[in-house]
Amino acid sequence: MREIRAVLTGLDLLAAGPSAGDEFDADTERAVRAFQQSRGLSVDGRVGAETWRALDAARWRLGARTLYHAVPEPLTGEDVRSLQERLLEIGYDVGRADAVYGVRTSRAVAQFQREMGLKPDGSCGPQTMGTLRRLGRKVVGGRPQWLRESDAIRQAGPTLVGRTVVIDPGHGGTDPGVVVPDGPLRWTEADLVHDLASRLEGRLAAAGVRVQLTRGPTPQSCLPDAERAQLANSLGADVFISLHTDGHANPEAEGVATYHYGTGNGVTSATGERLAGLVQREIVARTGLRDCRTHAKTWELLRLTRMPAVRVEVGYLTSPTDRGRLVDPRFRDRLVEAIVAAVQRMYFPIERDVPTGSIDVSALRAAVAAGRRVGAN
Ligand SMILES: [Zn+2]
Repeated sequence: MREIRAVLTGLDLLAAGPSAGDEFDADTERAVRAFQQSRGLSVDGRVGAETWRALDAARWRLGARTLYHAVPEPLTGEDVRSLQERLLEIGYDVGRADAVYGVRTSRAVAQFQREMGLKPDGSCGPQTMGTLRRLGRKVVGGRPQWLRESDAIRQAGPTLVGRTVVIDPGHGGTDPGVVVPDGPLRWTEADLVHDLASRLEGRLAAAGVRVQLTRGPTPQSCLPDAERAQLANSLGADVFISLHTDGHANPEAEGVATYHYGTGNGVTSATGERLAGLVQREIVARTGLRDCRTHAKTWELLRLTRMPAVRVEVGYLTSPTDRGRLVDPRFRDRLVEAIVAAVQRMYFPIERDVPTGSIDVSALRAAVAAGRRVGAN
């Protein structure tokens, strides 16, 4: 409790003053909410595992310690994120600003040091830090990562054949997600999204995509989000799609929303943002679900994945309207077709992009054959 208050005070979110002791008072809760908002976390005012990790990481301010690539347990923290964002701004490839000082960050630091005439040891001490500071904000808004990710996609060409897509049905095991009793029936988010994931797997596989699900229909326990992200990374996935349904005490809450990585202050995975936009628009156009738009979040699932990654909340299980649609297998097929169309559009060059709702997903099989012929040239 004291530690939480200390971190919040250090971030100027909580007034320093006579300690209120170990009490989690209204001021602390307000500060926690503000902190969660600033970090793109779910805002509930409570310090759960993910908020605690973010708070723990936040105690490190850039420059307070020397940063280096530690093995096997890499350094993590808010200072690492600041450094990564700074390097991204000035054009060095650290991948995503994920607050983890890994090999790629170390390489980017070494490259920076070489170009600045410093010893390229890949660690960031007072000298490197000082050079970075003196450099000022020379290059801002160029979003080099955006250009790199887009380049990688452009070079890959428009075909889906041979790509790896990881589909992540949310929850599972001891965690059913949103549960809604319905007469003798009981709808659970974990089961519904697994059904969706299987349908999506079938459609994508038919289009020549390698597909991996993060879990089976009845796992023993619920896989943490960080491990789901790790799985996608280890497979070198091209796209990551996490499927959820939403829930709310108010039965009138309804609609679809899609989330991508971003801090809300300009740092964003632009390809993730683009994929989120496509998924959201295709679903709204093809299913008529209410448009709850796309949003930037720093959830571990989105932060730790190294490829365009989105989490889609495909309607509210607690809304009679949405639920009535979701329990219909034909509706779930339309949802899945919308996601396939979005993934396909991800690989069309922007100038060859097509209107939302216009891709005939059933024709993608034919495109597979055509793609193979083109590829053989
Ligand atoms: Zn969920």
